[in-house]
Amino acid sequence: MRYSLPGRDTAVNCFVTSEAKIDIKSLQLDELQEKLRELGEPSYRAGQIADWLYKKRVDAIEQMTDLPRDLRARLEESFRCEHLEVVRVLGARDTTRKFLFCLNDGNLIESVLIPASPALYGEKSDRRTICISTQVGCAYGCKFCASGLEGFSRNLRANEIVDQIIAAERESGDKIDNIVFMGMGEPLANFENLMRAIRIINAPSGLGIGARRITVSTSGLAPQIRKLADEPLQIRLAVSLHGATDAVRDQIMPINRKYKIEMLLSACDYYVSHKKQRITFEYILIAGVNDGADQAHLLAKHARRLSAKVNLIPYNTVEGLPWSRPSRHRQERFLSILRTERIPATLRREKGHEIDAACGQLRLQTKRELQPR
Ligand code: SAH
Ligand code: SF4
Repeated sequence: MRYSLPGRDTAVNCFVTSEAKIDIKSLQLDELQEKLRELGEPSYRAGQIADWLYKKRVDAIEQMTDLPRDLRARLEESFRCEHLEVVRVLGARDTTRKFLFCLNDGNLIESVLIPASPALYGEKSDRRTICISTQVGCAYGCKFCASGLEGFSRNLRANEIVDQIIAAERESGDKIDNIVFMGMGEPLANFENLMRAIRIINAPSGLGIGARRITVSTSGLAPQIRKLADEPLQIRLAVSLHGATDAVRDQIMPINRKYKIEMLLSACDYYVSHKKQRITFEYILIAGVNDGADQAHLLAKHARRLSAKVNLIPYNTVEGLPWSRPSRHRQERFLSILRTERIPATLRREKGHEIDAACGQLRLQTKRELQPR
């Protein structure tokens, strides 16, 4: 598929491949070792290959020059080695940058690189955070979200998840040290590929990013939260609550019809007791929907039960959707109720939310502009 972008000279080629081979970057080190054993090769070759993929960052098996030529040929018979095409970058160095990527089948996904910020999901730090996608579109259809607007296309494979980090580092020249799964899609609905990607991101032979610097955000898939709690890695969890009662959540998040707030909170209890770490409640402030004092007090009650932090996010308007953010005064009032209740809470106040807009929006806007030739 060939896309041309108005105002950009270069057309981007997104070739549609139909090969059934799996991508070499979707294998964990032990699986790679096993594969090499099957090929009659010593297992240290797996470490060499991982080095080429994640340290030297080559794009093709052919470029792994310390592997015997015939081994490279045999690997190429079994595996693909894809990379993401950059279609569009918005924002400048030292600001939030959005990347729109094209997958090998022509689908578009986006990632957002966020510079040092004291109010993000890890502790205060000078970290560079990337917000990455796990699906093309989203099936959960939250009423305020751009990602759900065009429905669900498919799950991302593990290599497509990991490649967003590699491609963003390559394009920006930055070293990323904090990962948030808050891009397009519902990560816990793509559980196996998510976990596979996280293991690769975390492994010393992979990207070597600590589990505590990886945050998974979910709209509230209660059974999968328990499943995540049973995983040994100390990954952080963020729960997109956006309403403190079933009445409010039912109105904006269809998932709540299946997993009511109490089911969700009890899955969070389970997570907290297994991980011994704080979770975060994400709470978008939407004018006239969830920004009242009653919601703030109930949110405080839920947060206290779980010793959770609260991240308040003023709603980013999405073209075609009727919602808006409350006034600054109302945002601050909501925050002050939480603070009075002694809940650790932050309110995102930075400017420039046009670019900082939630994931899903750049893709939607670009899809409306792009004309497949
Ligand atoms: N599906 C997961 C992760 C992706 S969404 C989830 O829902 O948690 C990541 C975050 O962006 C969620 O908290 C989501 O509610 C929020 N979000 C979606 N649309 C938004 C918008 N227009 N303005 C602000 N935040 C938004
Ligand atoms: Fe999907 Fe999350 Fe958007 Fe809801 S908020 S539609 S779960 S991406």
